[in-house]
Amino acid sequence: ASPEKQRILLLMSDTGGGHRASAEAIAHALEKLFPERWECEILDIWTEHAAWPYSNFVPFYSFLAKKPMLWRMLWIYGNFPLTRFAQEKAAALSCFKRFKQVLEERIEDLDVVVSVHPLCQTIPLRALRKLKRGVPFVTVVTDLASAHPTWFHRGVDKCFVPSKAIYDKARRCGLPTDKLVSRGLPLRAPFWEQEHRTQPEVRQHLGLPDVPSVLVMGGGDGVGRIARVAKTIASELRDEASLVVICGKNEAAKRELETYDWPDHVRPSILGFVSNIEEYMAAADCVVTKAGPGTIAEAATRGLPVVLSSFLPGQEAGNVKFVVKTHEFGVFKRRPKKIAREIRRLLEDDATRHSMAARALEAAKPDATTDIARDIARLVDTKIAKNPTDLK
Ligand code: UDP
Repeated sequence: ASPEKQRILLLMSDTGGGHRASAEAIAHALEKLFPERWECEILDIWTEHAAWPYSNFVPFYSFLAKKPMLWRMLWIYGNFPLTRFAQEKAAALSCFKRFKQVLEERIEDLDVVVSVHPLCQTIPLRALRKLKRGVPFVTVVTDLASAHPTWFHRGVDKCFVPSKAIYDKARRCGLPTDKLVSRGLPLRAPFWEQEHRTQPEVRQHLGLPDVPSVLVMGGGDGVGRIARVAKTIASELRDEASLVVICGKNEAAKRELETYDWPDHVRPSILGFVSNIEEYMAAADCVVTKAGPGTIAEAATRGLPVVLSSFLPGQEAGNVKFVVKTHEFGVFKRRPKKIAREIRRLLEDDATRHSMAARALEAAKPDATTDIARDIARLVDTKIAKNPTDLK
């Protein structure tokens, strides 16, 4: 490590795509605000350094995310204080020494540790404190409106929260107000700025027809029955419309939709994983998605009305409330037929669509990532780890 640079260790695990994306966004913001000053390391500490079976979190998560009932059981198991305590003890027994060694190897040059994962508080924080170097530890919560209690540890110096719902949860989990900083969800750089092109310009750039446009997506893995939902929407629409389906890594859905016989007035664009979601959102008039935190926060910055089609029990339940009740820029419909009717209503009713779009923009926090990066830099600069009160 170069001596004049400041060094940040971002701890996460690749359970879903969101945690790495958030870590990269924070690293990118530090680089943009303070060029050449920061050295950022992003580490999936569970996969790379935990003992078996904990090193298998990533495949385990990807299996469970497709099984909502099992997911619900695990969520309850992890929420219940007694089982959670037993689980944390067992994990600490086999991983504490390993995690401590990871930190010890880096501690000489380390200026701050940032966790962007619910399972990177308890053990890493205990290990860091054991090394007694006063390195600050920060949590950035990357869930939007529901969060597991393991996100919140009283020993952190600061905990960044993206919404009032998570702020309240953190308070209930015992975090004092002077450790909580309300910002927003870290988002990729294109979402920090408004789209300056007009909608027809963006559509033309993407090769899409300039007609009312529906975007269907389901997170990085293309979950939430996107193929069925897209087909049902196509059968419900009456006027000419463009239907963009972003299947992410769901190859099966992509193949199925590519060979489907679409009605003549529907202009389909079937895509796999794309890296310019912000452009497809700017081209669309509304989006259908599962209640993923990243997609919801991104849609808000683009003023895009949202129809939520599913959610992960526990983890994403609060996101539905965030969209439907708290900020009123979308609805939740589980059945494809109802989703399709809602989309048709939205495309036909300009007034409703425009007011939802305005409320989406009100809920958006495009400055969150740069604000968080600036706060972290300030925390390091002023070395306030022992008296962390002036970030409010
Ligand atoms: N995403 C993407 N390209 C795709 C599909 C999805 O970049 O083809 C991004 C999307 O913009 C969002 C993330 O993947 O940032 C999905 O995050 P979300 O929290 O919505 O759901 P997850 O997949 O993490 O459950």
